[in-house]
Amino acid sequence: MVPVATSGSAKEFAIDFVARNERAFITLNDSIFYFGELGVQETRTAGLMTSLLEQHGFHVQKGISGFATSFLATYGKGEPVIAIHTEYDANPSNSQKSGVTERAEIVAGAPGHCEGHNTNAAVMVASALAIRYAMEKFDLPGTLKIFGASAEEQLLSRPYFVRDGLFDDVDLAFHDHILDEFGTDYGMMQSAAVSAEFTFRGEAAHAAVAPWKGRDALDAVVLMDMGLAQHREHMKPTMTAHRVITKGGEQPNVIPAIAACWWYFRDPTAEGARLLFERAQQIAQGAALMANCELSVDVRAAVWPVRLNQTIAEVIQRNVEAVGMPVWTETEQDFARALQRQAKVAEMGLRPAVTSFKGPAVQIAASNDCGDVSWKVPMGRIWFPGNVPYLPFHHWSAGAALATSIAHKGGLAGAKALSGAVIDYLQDRDLVAQTKRSFKQEIGDTVYAPLLPSGQRAPADLNRALMEKFRPEMEAHYLRLEPVFTL
Ligand SMILES: [Zn+2]
Repeated sequence: MVPVATSGSAKEFAIDFVARNERAFITLNDSIFYFGELGVQETRTAGLMTSLLEQHGFHVQKGISGFATSFLATYGKGEPVIAIHTEYDANPSNSQKSGVTERAEIVAGAPGHCEGHNTNAAVMVASALAIRYAMEKFDLPGTLKIFGASAEEQLLSRPYFVRDGLFDDVDLAFHDHILDEFGTDYGMMQSAAVSAEFTFRGEAAHAAVAPWKGRDALDAVVLMDMGLAQHREHMKPTMTAHRVITKGGEQPNVIPAIAACWWYFRDPTAEGARLLFERAQQIAQGAALMANCELSVDVRAAVWPVRLNQTIAEVIQRNVEAVGMPVWTETEQDFARALQRQAKVAEMGLRPAVTSFKGPAVQIAASNDCGDVSWKVPMGRIWFPGNVPYLPFHHWSAGAALATSIAHKGGLAGAKALSGAVIDYLQDRDLVAQTKRSFKQEIGDTVYAPLLPSGQRAPADLNRALMEKFRPEMEAHYLRLEPVFTL
């Protein structure tokens, strides 16, 4: 383990700043919870985050890499350059009242937070302000870069940031994410993925009267499906492919002129995901040829697997242990157990202690769009204990604690430990150098090149219709409070 000071005046100041601003933290967390905005449409969320960062002296660039609701907020100058990034999008159909232990929608059918990205955002902003004031007060040289990463649930924005050079001058990066644990990880965590829509275009005709005049685009979708089903036998066991049909025609007596399917291709390695996607494109071309249709392929997202640096993990762990697990009340434990009962998982309540340092992590088949960052620069991830153990993310139960004292206390603890870890790096150039050396060793001879096509543009309209449909009703539930952070 790397020796890291767990106390020190700049760090104590930052931790105290977070504690003193508990009320503002709660207001920010709960405001974003009630915004419940879907990816690429997080206008209120990003607006609130950037206005706070601007008010407190950050230089803010909005709309980075073509994502209207992404941003880069910078404070300070010179080296080291330390980034913090996180996501703040909700999920469709996940509207859930907070503080109740049964399924109860805030707005029927509306999107909502059911994982805790609202708390991710509050932790990042609170930490950014705490670190920034510590930098000013204690004359710490360095640059703090806060990345607002929209649309994680669609694996979208961060590969664009990396491709567009926004991490070129960054020395190391932190990602904060909610969990039911207080701790960190290192090693390979999540898988590479390519998400792509295949659209086939043919010609419509009356299906009964003159089918010979039609070219059936749905046939091409079905044939591609069959082709991939045959190909599964020849895929490496680590590869996975799953799909939905997004357009399949309107009614049976009209031969569909347009049909489309949306696929995810994954592998533990970026190269594996790339190869599988390449094979799928050949199969799609074959299907188009058989059905006499034209094919277009739109890559919606392409991400590298997440790899976490061991040195940063050690620094995070020391800071997590110094802050310690929040002390949960009996009421909070009862609430957690009631939720666990509802979700039919073990009724263990909330975890009493921080998670001990272990690793390397076991790589899972899910993905996160911050993978590209983690191959560009050394990256660490802090897990903060803002949700209830074992609740499945994206299930209503995982939304029920997100504007309660569980999310608040877990998030505040996370912001303190994250601030502490960043300040360790601002105060110790050797630690930065050591982290970069360990990163080099970890990635070995792997050369990072984006999986994302070079000309790929951010999808501005994603989720727009859904958000426009529900926003008016959701607005009635917005908090009527402003988060006010003070020195
Ligand atoms: Zn998440």
